[in-house]
Amino acid sequence: MPSTQTAPAQIDTTKASIARVYDAFLNGKDNYEIDREVVRRVRKVAPEASQMAWDNREFLIRVTRFIAAQGGIKQFLDLGSGLPTAENTHQVAQRIQPEARVVYVDNDPVVLAHGRALLEDNDQTHFVSADIFVPREVLDNEIVQRHLDFTEPIALFQLGTIHHYAGERSPADIMREYIDALPSGSYVAISHFLDPETPELSPLARRLEDVFLHSPMGTGVFRTRAEIESMFPGLELVAPGLVLCVNWWPDGPRIKPLDPVQNCIVGAVGRKP
Ligand code: SAM
Repeated sequence: MPSTQTAPAQIDTTKASIARVYDAFLNGKDNYEIDREVVRRVRKVAPEASQMAWDNREFLIRVTRFIAAQGGIKQFLDLGSGLPTAENTHQVAQRIQPEARVVYVDNDPVVLAHGRALLEDNDQTHFVSADIFVPREVLDNEIVQRHLDFTEPIALFQLGTIHHYAGERSPADIMREYIDALPSGSYVAISHFLDPETPELSPLARRLEDVFLHSPMGTGVFRTRAEIESMFPGLELVAPGLVLCVNWWPDGPRIKPLDPVQNCIVGAVGRKP
C-alpha cells in the first residue's frame, strides 16, 4: 500500500505510525509517504539510522532462538508485534519448539487490518488488539487467557516499544505489573533507545530524540542505562546483561566498526527466579 490513494478509510495517512515507520526503516512495503518523511528526517541526522531498526530486529530473532532453545520456553507474549517482516517471533520459536504458542499484541490499524492475517498463520499463533502500556488490558484479555498458561513459564517481549511510551506511569512500574503476573522461570526481553551519556554520543541521541518527537510520528524517548535497567524489577539478567543490541550474542565476530547510531539502542533478557 505505497500510496495514500489506496489507504483503507480507517487509516489516517496524515499521521505517521510507529509500525509503518519501522517497516519503512526495514525496507518494507506497508508504509505511506508520511512515514517515509519521518525516515528521511531521521536520516538527515544519522544517515545509517536504518541500522538501529535492523539491530533491534536481529536482537529479537536471537533472543527468541535463545529463549526457545536454551530456555525451553513454549509460550510467547509479544507486545507490539509490528508489521510482519522476514522472520517473525512465531516462525523463529516454532522452528525450535514446534508446539510453541505465540500471542501478538498491537494497536496499529494497519497491523490489525493486514498484519493480523499474516501473523496468525497457524492455530498456535493469535493476535490481540490492546494497549500494551496498560498491562491489565493485555493480561485480562480473553485470547491471552485462553492461549497462555500463566502457571507455566512465559517469554514476554517488549521490543522496540516502550521507548514510544511517555505517559504518567513509569515504564518500570508498567513492567513490574507484567512481571508480577508471570510465573517463576519466565523470561522478559526489552530493547530500548539509549542515551549513552558520553560527550561523543549523547548529542546524537538527543538530536535523534528531537527529530522523532517533532516528526509526524511524535514519539521516541532515549533513556539512560539506569532508567532502562529499572525496567527489569526482580529479574536476573542473563549474561551479558544490558548491552548494545548488536553486541547481545552476535552471530559472529565483528569485522567492521559500529556506526555511531548503533550505540543508541540496547537490549537485555531477564529471567524471573
Ligand atoms: N516488536 C517489534 C520488533 O521489535 O521488531 C516491532 C517494534 S515497532 C518499532 C513497535 C510496535 O509497537 C508497533 O507495531 C506499534 O504499533 C506498537 N505499539 C506502540 N504503542 C503501542 C500501544 N500503546 N499498544 C499496542 N501496540 C503499540
